[in-house]
Amino acid sequence: MTSPDRPVRVRFAPSPTGKLHIGGARTAIYNWAFARANHGTFILRIDDTDPARSTEENTQVILRAMKWLGLDWDEGPDIGGPFGPYKQMERLDIYHAAAERLLAEGRAYPCFCTPEQLEADREAARARKDPFQGYQRRCRHIDPAEARARMDAGESYVLRIKVPEDRGDVHIHDAVHGDVVFDAKELDDFVIIRSDGTPTYNFTTVVDDAAMGITHVIRGDDHLSNTPRQVMVYEALGAPVPEFAHISMILGADGKKLSKRHGATSVEEYRDAGYLSDAFVNYLALLGWSLDGETTVIPRDVLASRFSLDRISKNPATFDPKKLDWMNAEYINAMTDAEFARKILVPELTRAGLLDEGAERTAAWMEQLAAIVKPRTKMPADAATVAAPIFATADTLVYDEKAVSKGLAKEGMGAVLDAAAKALDAIPAASWTAEAVDAALEPLPEQLDAKKRVVFQAVRAAACGNLVSPPLGETMALIGKDDCMARIARARTMAL
Ligand code: GLU
Repeated sequence: MTSPDRPVRVRFAPSPTGKLHIGGARTAIYNWAFARANHGTFILRIDDTDPARSTEENTQVILRAMKWLGLDWDEGPDIGGPFGPYKQMERLDIYHAAAERLLAEGRAYPCFCTPEQLEADREAARARKDPFQGYQRRCRHIDPAEARARMDAGESYVLRIKVPEDRGDVHIHDAVHGDVVFDAKELDDFVIIRSDGTPTYNFTTVVDDAAMGITHVIRGDDHLSNTPRQVMVYEALGAPVPEFAHISMILGADGKKLSKRHGATSVEEYRDAGYLSDAFVNYLALLGWSLDGETTVIPRDVLASRFSLDRISKNPATFDPKKLDWMNAEYINAMTDAEFARKILVPELTRAGLLDEGAERTAAWMEQLAAIVKPRTKMPADAATVAAPIFATADTLVYDEKAVSKGLAKEGMGAVLDAAAKALDAIPAASWTAEAVDAALEPLPEQLDAKKRVVFQAVRAAACGNLVSPPLGETMALIGKDDCMARIARARTMAL
Protein backbone atom coordinates (compact mmCIF):
# COMPACT_ATOMS: atom_id res chain seq x y z
CA MET A 1 0.00 0.00 0.00
CA THR A 2 2.66 2.51 0.98
CA SER A 3 5.23 3.04 -1.71
CA PRO A 4 8.53 1.80 -0.36
CA ASP A 5 10.64 4.52 -1.94
CA ARG A 6 8.82 7.54 -0.53
CA PRO A 7 8.51 8.08 3.20
CA VAL A 8 4.89 8.62 4.19
CA ARG A 9 3.82 12.26 4.25
CA VAL A 10 0.18 13.11 4.81
CA ARG A 11 -1.67 16.30 5.48
CA PHE A 12 -4.85 17.51 7.07
CA ALA A 13 -5.94 20.63 5.23
CA PRO A 14 -8.95 22.25 6.85
CA SER A 15 -10.51 25.41 5.47
CA PRO A 16 -10.90 27.88 8.34
CA THR A 17 -14.44 28.73 7.37
CA GLY A 18 -15.83 27.39 10.63
CA LYS A 19 -14.95 25.33 13.66
CA LEU A 20 -13.43 21.87 13.51
CA HIS A 21 -16.34 19.48 13.13
CA ILE A 22 -16.70 15.80 13.81
CA GLY A 23 -16.11 14.83 10.18
CA GLY A 24 -12.98 16.96 9.91
CA ALA A 25 -11.72 15.67 13.24
CA ARG A 26 -12.06 12.10 12.03
CA THR A 27 -10.16 12.96 8.82
CA ALA A 28 -7.45 14.52 10.98
CA ILE A 29 -7.31 11.45 13.21
CA TYR A 30 -6.92 9.10 10.24
CA ASN A 31 -4.15 11.20 8.75
CA TRP A 32 -2.38 11.48 12.09
CA ALA A 33 -2.71 7.78 12.88
CA PHE A 34 -1.60 6.77 9.39
CA ALA A 35 1.49 8.97 9.66
CA ARG A 36 2.36 7.61 13.09
CA ALA A 37 1.75 3.97 12.13
CA ASN A 38 4.10 4.38 9.17
CA HIS A 39 6.71 6.50 10.93
CA GLY A 40 5.79 9.24 8.53
CA THR A 41 5.15 12.96 8.73
CA PHE A 42 1.84 14.57 9.60
CA ILE A 43 1.34 18.04 8.19
CA LEU A 44 -1.26 20.60 9.11
CA ARG A 45 -2.03 22.98 6.29
CA ILE A 46 -4.59 25.73 6.41
CA ASP A 47 -6.58 26.06 3.19
CA ASP A 48 -7.58 29.68 3.61
CA THR A 49 -7.87 30.77 0.00
CA ASP A 50 -11.54 31.59 0.36
CA PRO A 51 -11.02 35.07 1.83
CA ALA A 52 -14.71 35.76 2.26
CA ARG A 53 -15.25 32.81 4.58
CA SER A 54 -11.84 32.15 6.16
CA THR A 55 -10.88 33.83 9.41
CA GLU A 56 -7.81 33.83 11.59
CA GLU A 57 -10.07 33.19 14.55
CA ASN A 58 -11.31 29.97 12.99
CA THR A 59 -7.72 28.96 12.30
CA GLN A 60 -6.90 29.40 15.98
CA VAL A 61 -10.02 27.46 16.99
CA ILE A 62 -8.99 24.60 14.71
CA LEU A 63 -5.43 24.58 16.09
CA ARG A 64 -6.78 24.49 19.63
CA ALA A 65 -9.18 21.69 18.80
CA MET A 66 -6.34 19.69 17.20
CA LYS A 67 -4.26 20.16 20.34
CA TRP A 68 -7.12 19.08 22.55
CA LEU A 69 -7.54 15.99 20.39
CA GLY A 70 -3.85 15.30 20.97
CA LEU A 71 -3.08 15.14 17.25
CA ASP A 72 0.41 16.54 17.17
CA TRP A 73 1.65 17.69 13.78
CA ASP A 74 5.22 17.71 12.53
CA GLU A 75 4.91 20.63 10.15
CA GLY A 76 2.32 23.36 10.28
CA PRO A 77 1.50 27.05 10.35
CA ASP A 78 2.58 27.58 13.94
CA ILE A 79 5.75 25.47 13.91
CA GLY A 80 6.89 25.82 10.32
CA GLY A 81 8.79 23.12 8.51
CA PRO A 82 10.89 22.57 5.40
CA PHE A 83 8.00 23.06 2.94
CA GLY A 84 6.35 26.14 4.42
CA PRO A 85 4.59 28.39 4.64
CA TYR A 86 1.63 26.23 5.68
CA LYS A 87 -1.16 28.71 5.09
CA GLN A 88 -2.27 28.87 1.50
CA MET A 89 -2.75 32.63 1.51
CA GLU A 90 0.96 32.92 2.21
CA ARG A 91 1.72 30.73 -0.79
CA LEU A 92 0.11 32.80 -3.55
CA ASP A 93 3.47 33.42 -5.23
CA ILE A 94 4.03 29.69 -5.38
CA TYR A 95 0.71 29.13 -7.18
CA HIS A 96 1.36 31.94 -9.60
CA ALA A 97 4.83 30.64 -10.40
CA ALA A 98 3.41 27.17 -10.99
CA ALA A 99 0.68 28.59 -13.23
CA GLU A 100 3.22 30.67 -15.11
CA ARG A 101 5.31 27.58 -15.70
CA LEU A 102 2.34 25.62 -17.05
CA LEU A 103 1.47 28.54 -19.28
CA ALA A 104 5.03 28.72 -20.63
CA GLU A 105 5.04 24.99 -21.26
CA GLY A 106 1.73 25.11 -23.09
CA ARG A 107 -0.02 23.06 -20.40
CA ALA A 108 -2.28 25.93 -19.46
CA TYR A 109 -3.72 28.76 -21.49
CA PRO A 110 -5.53 32.02 -20.96
CA CYS A 111 -9.23 32.11 -21.67
CA PHE A 112 -10.84 35.42 -22.52
CA CYS A 113 -14.41 34.18 -22.80
CA THR A 114 -16.97 36.41 -21.17
CA PRO A 115 -19.55 34.93 -18.79
CA GLU A 116 -22.18 35.55 -21.48
CA GLN A 117 -20.16 33.62 -24.05
CA LEU A 118 -19.67 30.73 -21.62
CA GLU A 119 -23.37 30.62 -20.85
CA ALA A 120 -24.30 30.68 -24.53
CA ASP A 121 -21.87 27.80 -25.21
CA ARG A 122 -23.30 25.80 -22.33
CA GLU A 123 -26.81 26.39 -23.58
CA ALA A 124 -25.88 25.30 -27.09
CA ALA A 125 -24.19 22.13 -25.78
CA ARG A 126 -27.32 21.33 -23.82
CA ALA A 127 -29.53 21.95 -26.82
CA ARG A 128 -27.59 19.62 -29.09
CA LYS A 129 -27.30 17.06 -26.30
CA ASP A 130 -23.52 17.10 -26.54
CA PRO A 131 -22.09 14.43 -24.21
CA PHE A 132 -19.41 16.95 -23.32
CA GLN A 133 -20.99 19.73 -21.32
CA GLY A 134 -17.85 21.42 -20.02
CA TYR A 135 -15.92 24.39 -21.34
CA GLN A 136 -16.00 24.27 -25.11
CA ARG A 137 -12.30 25.02 -25.44
CA ARG A 138 -12.94 28.16 -27.46
CA CYS A 139 -9.69 29.88 -26.39
CA ARG A 140 -7.55 26.77 -26.42
CA HIS A 141 -6.37 27.33 -29.95
CA ILE A 142 -5.52 30.99 -29.79
CA ASP A 143 -1.97 31.49 -30.92
CA PRO A 144 0.25 31.85 -27.79
CA ALA A 145 1.84 35.07 -29.03
CA GLU A 146 -1.58 36.61 -29.64
CA ALA A 147 -2.79 35.37 -26.25
CA ARG A 148 0.22 36.94 -24.54
CA ALA A 149 -0.40 40.22 -26.32
CA ARG A 150 -4.03 40.28 -25.17
CA MET A 151 -2.99 39.51 -21.63
CA ASP A 152 -0.39 42.25 -21.70
CA ALA A 153 -2.98 44.64 -23.07
CA GLY A 154 -5.01 44.15 -19.92
CA GLU A 155 -7.85 42.05 -21.27
CA SER A 156 -9.62 40.06 -18.58
CA TYR A 157 -8.76 36.33 -18.59
CA VAL A 158 -8.69 33.20 -16.52
CA LEU A 159 -6.04 30.50 -16.80
CA ARG A 160 -7.28 27.06 -17.76
CA ILE A 161 -5.48 23.78 -17.63
CA LYS A 162 -5.05 22.14 -21.03
CA VAL A 163 -6.25 18.59 -20.69
CA PRO A 164 -4.35 16.57 -23.32
CA GLU A 165 -6.54 15.73 -26.31
CA ASP A 166 -5.89 12.02 -26.07
CA ARG A 167 -5.91 11.78 -22.28
CA GLY A 168 -8.73 9.22 -22.15
CA ASP A 169 -10.45 8.03 -19.02
CA VAL A 170 -8.81 8.67 -15.67
CA HIS A 171 -8.22 5.63 -13.52
CA ILE A 172 -7.39 6.08 -9.91
CA HIS A 173 -6.84 3.55 -7.23
CA ASP A 174 -8.52 4.56 -4.03
CA ALA A 175 -7.64 2.69 -0.85
CA VAL A 176 -11.28 2.78 0.21
CA HIS A 177 -13.23 2.71 -3.04
CA GLY A 178 -10.88 0.50 -5.05
CA ASP A 179 -10.43 1.22 -8.74
CA VAL A 180 -12.45 4.21 -9.82
CA VAL A 181 -12.73 5.27 -13.44
CA PHE A 182 -13.71 8.77 -14.49
CA ASP A 183 -14.93 9.24 -18.02
CA ALA A 184 -12.72 11.47 -20.16
CA LYS A 185 -15.88 13.39 -21.02
CA GLU A 186 -16.03 14.70 -17.50
CA LEU A 187 -12.68 16.40 -17.94
CA ASP A 188 -12.85 19.91 -19.17
CA ASP A 189 -10.18 22.55 -19.30
CA PHE A 190 -11.03 23.86 -15.88
CA VAL A 191 -9.95 27.15 -14.37
CA ILE A 192 -6.77 27.17 -12.29
CA ILE A 193 -6.43 30.95 -11.86
CA ARG A 194 -9.52 33.16 -11.76
CA SER A 195 -9.75 36.52 -13.50
CA ASP A 196 -8.99 38.29 -10.22
CA GLY A 197 -5.77 36.31 -9.94
CA THR A 198 -6.90 33.97 -7.17
CA PRO A 199 -6.09 30.29 -7.63
CA THR A 200 -8.78 27.60 -7.42
CA TYR A 201 -8.98 24.78 -4.88
CA ASN A 202 -8.15 22.01 -7.36
CA PHE A 203 -5.01 23.87 -8.33
CA THR A 204 -3.69 25.04 -4.95
CA THR A 205 -4.28 21.64 -3.39
CA VAL A 206 -2.23 19.85 -6.00
CA VAL A 207 0.53 22.45 -6.18
CA ASP A 208 0.86 22.12 -2.41
CA ASP A 209 0.49 18.36 -2.20
CA ALA A 210 3.14 18.02 -4.91
CA ALA A 211 5.49 20.59 -3.35
CA MET A 212 5.07 19.10 0.11
CA GLY A 213 5.74 15.57 -1.10
CA ILE A 214 2.37 14.25 0.03
CA THR A 215 2.26 10.50 -0.56
CA HIS A 216 -1.30 9.75 0.60
CA VAL A 217 -4.33 11.98 0.40
CA ILE A 218 -6.82 10.90 3.04
CA ARG A 219 -9.95 13.04 3.00
CA GLY A 220 -13.73 13.02 2.87
CA ASP A 221 -15.33 11.35 -0.13
CA ASP A 222 -17.08 14.58 -1.03
CA HIS A 223 -13.73 15.25 -2.72
CA LEU A 224 -13.68 12.06 -4.78
CA SER A 225 -15.27 13.90 -7.70
CA ASN A 226 -12.49 16.49 -7.61
CA THR A 227 -9.83 13.84 -7.93
CA PRO A 228 -9.74 13.43 -11.74
CA ARG A 229 -9.21 17.16 -12.12
CA GLN A 230 -6.48 17.06 -9.56
CA VAL A 231 -4.84 14.18 -11.40
CA MET A 232 -4.74 16.46 -14.46
CA VAL A 233 -2.80 19.01 -12.46
CA TYR A 234 -0.33 16.42 -11.15
CA GLU A 235 0.27 15.28 -14.69
CA ALA A 236 0.69 18.80 -15.98
CA LEU A 237 3.16 19.56 -13.21
CA GLY A 238 4.99 16.30 -13.85
CA ALA A 239 4.54 15.31 -10.21
CA PRO A 240 3.81 11.80 -8.94
CA VAL A 241 0.14 11.18 -8.17
CA PRO A 242 -0.33 10.23 -4.51
CA GLU A 243 -2.41 7.36 -3.22
CA PHE A 244 -5.95 8.35 -2.35
CA ALA A 245 -8.24 7.25 0.44
CA HIS A 246 -11.64 8.90 0.35
CA ILE A 247 -13.48 8.24 3.54
CA SER A 248 -17.22 7.93 3.81
CA MET A 249 -19.57 10.49 5.21
CA ILE A 250 -20.72 10.47 8.78
CA LEU A 251 -24.47 10.21 9.17
CA GLY A 252 -26.81 11.06 12.00
CA ALA A 253 -29.15 8.46 13.48
CA ASP A 254 -31.79 9.37 10.88
CA GLY A 255 -29.49 8.40 8.02
CA LYS A 256 -28.95 11.99 6.92
CA LYS A 257 -25.56 13.68 6.71
CA LEU A 258 -24.47 14.73 10.18
CA SER A 259 -25.33 18.36 10.81
CA LYS A 260 -26.35 20.81 13.51
CA ARG A 261 -29.80 19.26 13.51
CA HIS A 262 -28.29 16.21 15.18
CA GLY A 263 -26.89 18.18 18.10
CA ALA A 264 -23.34 19.22 18.85
CA THR A 265 -21.06 18.91 15.85
CA SER A 266 -17.95 20.90 16.75
CA VAL A 267 -15.05 19.42 18.64
CA GLU A 268 -15.13 22.32 21.08
CA GLU A 269 -18.66 21.54 22.15
CA TYR A 270 -17.59 18.02 23.11
CA ARG A 271 -14.56 19.31 24.94
CA ASP A 272 -16.71 21.78 26.86
CA ALA A 273 -19.28 19.11 27.68
CA GLY A 274 -16.51 17.25 29.48
CA TYR A 275 -15.71 14.40 27.12
CA LEU A 276 -12.25 12.99 27.50
CA SER A 277 -10.15 13.57 24.44
CA ASP A 278 -8.83 9.99 24.47
CA ALA A 279 -12.36 8.60 24.49
CA PHE A 280 -13.50 11.05 21.83
CA VAL A 281 -10.59 10.18 19.53
CA ASN A 282 -11.19 6.47 20.11
CA TYR A 283 -14.86 6.83 19.26
CA LEU A 284 -14.30 8.92 16.14
CA ALA A 285 -11.57 6.56 14.92
CA LEU A 286 -14.15 3.78 14.90
CA LEU A 287 -16.52 5.74 12.68
CA GLY A 288 -15.47 3.99 9.53
CA TRP A 289 -12.39 2.10 10.63
CA SER A 290 -11.89 -0.98 12.71
CA LEU A 291 -8.89 -2.66 14.25
CA ASP A 292 -10.15 -6.21 13.95
CA GLY A 293 -13.89 -5.90 13.64
CA GLU A 294 -14.57 -6.29 17.34
CA THR A 295 -12.21 -4.35 19.62
CA THR A 296 -13.82 -1.12 20.68
CA VAL A 297 -11.49 0.30 23.29
CA ILE A 298 -8.41 1.20 21.33
CA PRO A 299 -5.95 3.36 23.22
CA ARG A 300 -4.22 6.12 21.34
CA ASP A 301 -0.88 4.31 21.15
CA VAL A 302 -2.52 1.26 19.60
CA LEU A 303 -4.30 3.47 17.09
CA ALA A 304 -0.99 5.15 16.31
CA SER A 305 0.75 1.86 15.69
CA ARG A 306 -1.96 -0.26 14.10
CA PHE A 307 -3.96 2.11 11.93
CA SER A 308 -4.19 1.02 8.31
CA LEU A 309 -6.08 2.22 5.26
CA ASP A 310 -7.25 -1.25 4.28
CA ARG A 311 -9.53 -1.43 7.29
CA ILE A 312 -11.44 1.71 6.41
CA SER A 313 -15.02 0.93 5.50
CA LYS A 314 -16.65 2.12 2.34
CA ASN A 315 -20.04 2.44 4.01
CA PRO A 316 -21.14 5.63 5.69
CA ALA A 317 -20.72 5.54 9.45
CA THR A 318 -23.43 6.57 11.87
CA PHE A 319 -22.62 8.90 14.72
CA ASP A 320 -24.27 7.57 17.84
CA PRO A 321 -24.01 9.89 20.87
CA LYS A 322 -24.95 7.01 23.18
CA LYS A 323 -21.95 4.99 22.04
CA LEU A 324 -19.75 8.01 22.57
CA ASP A 325 -21.11 8.32 26.12
CA TRP A 326 -20.44 4.64 26.68
CA MET A 327 -16.89 5.05 25.43
CA ASN A 328 -16.37 8.05 27.68
CA ALA A 329 -17.57 6.09 30.71
CA GLU A 330 -15.23 3.23 29.74
CA TYR A 331 -12.25 5.57 29.77
CA ILE A 332 -13.31 7.09 33.07
CA ASN A 333 -13.71 3.69 34.66
CA ALA A 334 -10.35 2.54 33.40
CA MET A 335 -8.63 5.28 35.41
CA THR A 336 -6.99 4.43 38.72
CA ASP A 337 -8.61 6.06 41.73
CA ALA A 338 -5.69 8.45 42.05
CA GLU A 339 -5.95 9.41 38.40
CA PHE A 340 -9.70 9.88 38.66
CA ALA A 341 -9.22 12.04 41.74
CA ARG A 342 -6.68 14.23 39.98
CA LYS A 343 -8.18 14.46 36.51
CA ILE A 344 -11.89 14.45 37.22
CA LEU A 345 -12.84 14.75 40.86
CA VAL A 346 -10.76 17.71 41.95
CA PRO A 347 -11.49 19.82 38.85
CA GLU A 348 -15.20 19.03 38.95
CA LEU A 349 -15.56 19.61 42.69
CA THR A 350 -13.70 22.87 42.29
CA ARG A 351 -15.91 23.91 39.40
CA ALA A 352 -18.98 23.09 41.47
CA GLY A 353 -17.64 25.18 44.33
CA LEU A 354 -17.47 22.21 46.67
CA LEU A 355 -13.76 22.29 47.34
CA ASP A 356 -13.52 25.51 49.27
CA GLU A 357 -10.27 26.54 50.78
CA GLY A 358 -10.13 25.63 54.43
CA ALA A 359 -11.74 22.26 53.86
CA GLU A 360 -8.86 19.94 54.41
CA ARG A 361 -9.03 16.81 52.37
CA THR A 362 -6.15 14.40 52.40
CA ALA A 363 -5.07 12.57 49.28
CA ALA A 364 -6.18 9.33 50.89
CA TRP A 365 -9.64 10.75 51.60
CA MET A 366 -9.88 11.94 47.99
CA GLU A 367 -8.92 8.54 46.69
CA GLN A 368 -11.53 6.86 48.83
CA LEU A 369 -14.07 9.27 47.47
CA ALA A 370 -12.81 8.56 43.95
CA ALA A 371 -13.30 4.84 44.48
CA ILE A 372 -17.02 5.21 45.15
CA VAL A 373 -17.77 8.09 42.79
CA LYS A 374 -15.92 6.73 39.75
CA PRO A 375 -18.31 3.86 38.96
CA ARG A 376 -21.19 6.33 39.06
CA THR A 377 -19.54 8.83 36.72
CA LYS A 378 -20.38 8.70 33.05
CA MET A 379 -19.60 12.32 32.37
CA PRO A 380 -17.12 14.27 34.51
CA ALA A 381 -19.84 16.59 35.82
CA ASP A 382 -21.61 13.56 37.33
CA ALA A 383 -18.77 13.33 39.83
CA ALA A 384 -19.79 16.57 41.54
CA THR A 385 -23.45 15.59 41.60
CA VAL A 386 -22.70 12.21 43.15
CA ALA A 387 -20.26 13.64 45.68
CA ALA A 388 -22.24 16.76 46.60
CA PRO A 389 -24.11 15.27 49.60
CA ILE A 390 -20.80 14.24 51.12
CA PHE A 391 -19.65 17.84 51.05
CA ALA A 392 -22.82 19.18 52.65
CA THR A 393 -23.15 19.74 56.36
CA ALA A 394 -25.98 18.59 58.58
CA ASP A 395 -27.54 22.04 58.14
CA THR A 396 -27.07 22.45 54.40
CA LEU A 397 -27.84 18.92 53.28
CA VAL A 398 -30.77 18.88 50.89
CA TYR A 399 -33.23 16.04 51.43
CA ASP A 400 -34.77 15.06 48.16
CA GLU A 401 -38.43 14.24 47.87
CA LYS A 402 -37.97 10.49 47.56
CA ALA A 403 -35.65 10.35 50.54
CA VAL A 404 -38.30 12.02 52.66
CA SER A 405 -41.35 10.14 51.39
CA LYS A 406 -39.81 6.68 51.15
CA GLY A 407 -37.01 6.79 53.70
CA LEU A 408 -38.21 9.04 56.50
CA ALA A 409 -41.85 10.07 56.60
CA LYS A 410 -43.07 6.56 57.11
CA GLU A 411 -44.35 4.83 60.19
CA GLY A 412 -41.55 3.21 62.18
CA MET A 413 -38.68 5.18 60.66
CA GLY A 414 -38.21 7.17 63.85
CA ALA A 415 -37.49 3.95 65.72
CA VAL A 416 -35.06 2.86 63.02
CA LEU A 417 -33.15 6.13 63.23
CA ASP A 418 -33.08 6.00 67.03
CA ALA A 419 -31.62 2.51 66.95
CA ALA A 420 -29.16 3.46 64.21
CA ALA A 421 -28.03 6.56 66.10
CA LYS A 422 -27.42 4.52 69.21
CA ALA A 423 -25.45 1.82 67.40
CA LEU A 424 -23.39 4.32 65.44
CA ASP A 425 -22.68 6.55 68.38
CA ALA A 426 -21.05 3.58 70.06
CA ILE A 427 -18.28 3.60 67.43
CA PRO A 428 -15.34 5.57 68.77
CA ALA A 429 -14.61 8.53 66.50
CA ALA A 430 -11.10 7.26 65.86
CA SER A 431 -12.40 3.96 64.48
CA TRP A 432 -15.14 5.44 62.29
CA THR A 433 -14.56 3.40 59.14
CA ALA A 434 -16.78 1.91 56.46
CA GLU A 435 -16.39 -1.52 58.07
CA ALA A 436 -17.27 -0.20 61.53
CA VAL A 437 -20.38 1.57 60.19
CA ASP A 438 -21.49 -1.54 58.30
CA ALA A 439 -20.89 -3.71 61.36
CA ALA A 440 -22.90 -1.35 63.57
CA LEU A 441 -25.87 -1.31 61.18
CA GLU A 442 -25.78 -5.01 60.40
CA PRO A 443 -27.74 -6.33 63.42
CA LEU A 444 -30.45 -3.64 63.27
CA PRO A 445 -32.96 -5.35 60.94
CA GLU A 446 -33.17 -8.37 63.18
CA GLN A 447 -33.21 -6.30 66.31
CA LEU A 448 -36.06 -4.14 64.96
CA ASP A 449 -37.76 -6.98 63.17
CA ALA A 450 -37.65 -4.93 60.00
CA LYS A 451 -36.55 -5.58 56.45
CA LYS A 452 -32.88 -4.87 55.78
CA ARG A 453 -33.80 -2.72 52.77
CA VAL A 454 -36.13 -0.58 54.87
CA VAL A 455 -33.54 0.00 57.60
CA PHE A 456 -30.76 0.90 55.20
CA GLN A 457 -33.07 3.14 53.20
CA ALA A 458 -33.89 5.16 56.29
CA VAL A 459 -30.25 5.55 57.29
CA ARG A 460 -29.24 6.38 53.73
CA ALA A 461 -31.98 8.99 53.48
CA ALA A 462 -30.93 10.49 56.80
CA ALA A 463 -27.21 10.62 56.08
CA CYS A 464 -27.17 11.37 52.36
CA GLY A 465 -30.46 13.13 51.66
CA ASN A 466 -31.17 10.76 48.77
CA LEU A 467 -31.66 7.07 48.06
CA VAL A 468 -29.11 6.70 45.28
CA SER A 469 -25.82 7.45 46.95
CA PRO A 470 -22.77 5.20 46.73
CA PRO A 471 -22.41 2.34 49.25
CA LEU A 472 -23.59 3.49 52.65
CA GLY A 473 -20.66 2.46 54.84
CA GLU A 474 -18.08 4.05 52.58
CA THR A 475 -20.14 7.21 52.19
CA MET A 476 -20.70 7.63 55.92
CA ALA A 477 -17.03 6.99 56.58
CA LEU A 478 -16.16 9.88 54.29
CA ILE A 479 -18.76 12.16 55.86
CA GLY A 480 -17.30 11.55 59.29
CA LYS A 481 -18.87 10.62 62.58
CA ASP A 482 -19.92 14.01 63.93
CA ASP A 483 -21.59 15.06 60.76
CA CYS A 484 -23.36 11.72 60.36
CA MET A 485 -24.74 11.92 63.88
CA ALA A 486 -25.94 15.48 63.30
CA ARG A 487 -27.57 14.50 60.00
CA ILE A 488 -29.42 11.62 61.61
CA ALA A 489 -30.60 13.92 64.41
CA ARG A 490 -31.91 16.39 61.87
CA ALA A 491 -33.61 13.68 59.83
CA ARG A 492 -35.19 12.33 62.99
CA THR A 493 -37.41 15.40 63.05
CA MET A 494 -38.82 14.38 59.68
CA ALA A 495 -39.28 10.75 60.57
CA LEU A 496 -42.46 9.20 61.90
N1 GLU B 1 -9.68 22.40 2.42
C1 GLU B 1 -10.32 21.23 1.89
C2 GLU B 1 -11.49 20.87 2.80
O1 GLU B 1 -11.52 21.32 3.93
C3 GLU B 1 -9.31 20.12 1.83
C4 GLU B 1 -9.69 19.02 0.95
C5 GLU B 1 -8.53 18.12 0.69
O2 GLU B 1 -8.11 17.44 1.64
O3 GLU B 1 -8.03 18.12 -0.42
O4 GLU B 1 -12.40 20.20 2.39
